[in-house]
Amino acid sequence: MSDSDKPSEKKSADIVMLGRCPMCRKRATLDYRPFCSKRCSDLDLAKWLGGNYAIPAEETDLSEDDLNAPYAPE
Ligand SMILES: [Zn+2]
Repeated sequence: MSDSDKPSEKKSADIVMLGRCPMCRKRATLDYRPFCSKRCSDLDLAKWLGGNYAIPAEETDLSEDDLNAPYAPE
């Protein structure tokens, strides 16, 4: 028998202690509380610093080859 499949009272207490990430409402972590991750921490900081901010794209559709390639011949 294991209680790993459902949260126990102890785990619930941990959640209450750490709270939830104000950015995405995930469970906060010890390292980045009150945020869940460095990403959310940085986003919040950027919000305060810049007012409006852009989330950098994680990936682009263009590859190095696309950027460096000359126009394609017909
Ligand atoms: Zn978060």
